[in-house]
This record gives sequence, C-alpha cells and structure tokens, in this order.
Amino acid sequence: MNILVIGAGTMGSGIAQTAIQTGHSVTLMDVSTKALSAAKSKIENGLNKLVKKEVLTDDKRTSALSNITYTGNYDEIEQVNLSIEAAIERVDIKQMIIRQASPFVKDDGIFATNTSSIPISLLANSFTDPTRFIGIHFMNPVPLMKGVEIIPGIQTSKETAEKAVLFIKGIGKIPSKANDTAGFITNRLIGIYLNEAAKTVLEGNDPVEVDQMMKVCFNMPMGPCELTDLIGIDVTVDMLNVMAKAFGDRYIPNPLLMQLYNSGHMGKKSGSGFYRYEKGKRQESMIRSGK
Ligand code: NAD
Repeated sequence: MNILVIGAGTMGSGIAQTAIQTGHSVTLMDVSTKALSAAKSKIENGLNKLVKKEVLTDDKRTSALSNITYTGNYDEIEQVNLSIEAAIERVDIKQMIIRQASPFVKDDGIFATNTSSIPISLLANSFTDPTRFIGIHFMNPVPLMKGVEIIPGIQTSKETAEKAVLFIKGIGKIPSKANDTAGFITNRLIGIYLNEAAKTVLEGNDPVEVDQMMKVCFNMPMGPCELTDLIGIDVTVDMLNVMAKAFGDRYIPNPLLMQLYNSGHMGKKSGSGFYRYEKGKRQESMIRSGK
C-alpha cells in the first residue's frame, strides 16, 4: 500500500517505521524540517537495531529504507491508499491537515487519525468522504506496542472499519474496537491514572518512589511519571483538556503538569519532564520530594 503519514514526531516516525518494515511505501510529511531529519535518524537507528538483534535481515532493511520519502511539501505527494494524520493534538490543526491532505487520498482509500482523545466524528467532516474516515490509535513506541485502538465514527462505513482492521493485522498488530467518545477506552483510563500520579507528586511524593511503587507493587512495566514523560507532557495535557471538556473536572490537568507544560519541559523528547534525559537515557528526577 501507499501510505501518507502526516506528522513526523514520536508517533508519525514510529508508524512510518512499522509500515515500511512490513512492506508498505510511506511518504512522511511534516512542516518542520528538524522533525523530518530527527525522524529519519530515528527510523534508520530503529531498523539497524532490528538487524543487530537478527529480527530483520540486511536486505529487508535496505528495501524498507528505499520505501520511504520525507517531505515538507504537499506538492510532492502522490495518491495514496491510506493517509494517517499524526500531528499535534489540536482539533483546529487536525481539521486543517485533513482538509489539506484530502485530495491525495484515492477514491477508494481511507483517511485515519491517530488522535489520542479527540472524537472521530468531530474530525470526519473535514475529509471529503466521512464514510472513509476512521480513528486508528497506535500506542507508543509504535514499533514495540502490539495493541491498536480502532475507532469508527458515526459516519464511518463498515467497509472502512474492515480495511483498517486488515491493515493493522497485516502489520502484525492487534486491533481492538472502541466507541467514539473522547479518549476512547485507553486514554480515558490512563488519563485519570497519569493525572492522579502527578497530583501525588505535587503533594510531595517523590516521582522515583511513585514510579517504583507502581512497578514493584502492580507489575507495571513503567511507572506513571516515566510514562507521562514518554507520551509527552504536551500530548498528555492536550488530551486531558479534550477529556475534561467531555467528562468534567476530574480530567483537568493538575497544576504540576501545567507548570511543566508552560515552562517547556515536554518530557523525554525535549530532554526534561518529571526526569532529565541525556541521549534518550533517563537521569535524575527534575522534581524533588516536598517541592
Ligand atoms: P509530537 O509532538 O512528537 O509530533 C507532532 C508532529 O506534528 C511534530 O513533528 C510537528 O512538527 C508536526 N506538525 C505540527 N503541525 C503540523 C502540520 N500542520 N502539518 C504537518 N505536521 C505538523 O507528537 P506525537 O507524540 O507524535 O503525537 C502525535 C499525535 O499522536 C497526537 O494526536 C497525539 O495525541 C497522538 N498520540 C500520541 C501518543 C504518545 O504517546 N505520544 C500515543 C498515541 C497517540
């Protein structure tokens, strides 16, 4: 399949890597040249690691890398079978991108959004044919995480949902269907957990202790503060705001998340959040207990 991925950040680069690894052709589009070059290195490093681990052959890596182009310009995009929007979590920006990218989707192609929380039915009308619009919600990091939420909007056709499920299975992931409500299933649950974890830190608990406790007491692979840093403080705040609008106060991002957000500490991708990061490796916590 020919796939257009819009947004070359954490998720767009992961989606693009997974798609080329499984034989698809991808055009990765972003308005930021910095994001595009970071995505290129990340994808190349990701594939190199798989060759080292003998999960991928050298030939397959070469073939995968020949199947991706990076662009900042819609003029260079050809007609695609599938377009996946993975830009920032803002309704107005997503609606604009969907309108801009609509002409590049074939008449029998589908348009998916990777939104974390925005109802699909709020975005679908920006596409020329809302029956071919759907939510395909990948998890972070995309090359590793098996689960994918499939969210049909009120106008999405059965055929579109079937195509989305087939695509997800074809790239080796496990699709689960969710209703079209803000945050769907995954983020409606994880949103409360992450927001509450940040509240315990604001009240004086040490993020290291909070994370460790959830790992050793509940067998979580990662603690909530580390997870918020991985998701991105900005992505977390944006999705909480969408859910606060839909479900009320319990989702309003707590003041600590807002302080991190307002001061530009966006988590692992920016080098600091609950923790500091050097070359992608977690260092000490930025926030000391009792502060
Ligand atoms: P990110 O901040 O890492 O990347 C977003 C990218 O979008 C940036 O590179 C930015 O330059 C680009 N962008 C902004 N405006 C654009 C435009 N007009 N046209 C093209 N590109 C544009 O964010 P992310 O974490 O990759 O999240 C992307 C989407 O995926 C969001 O909707 C988010 O809610 C969702 N999501 C995120 C996660 C996560 O864990 N981070 C998980 C699932 C879904």
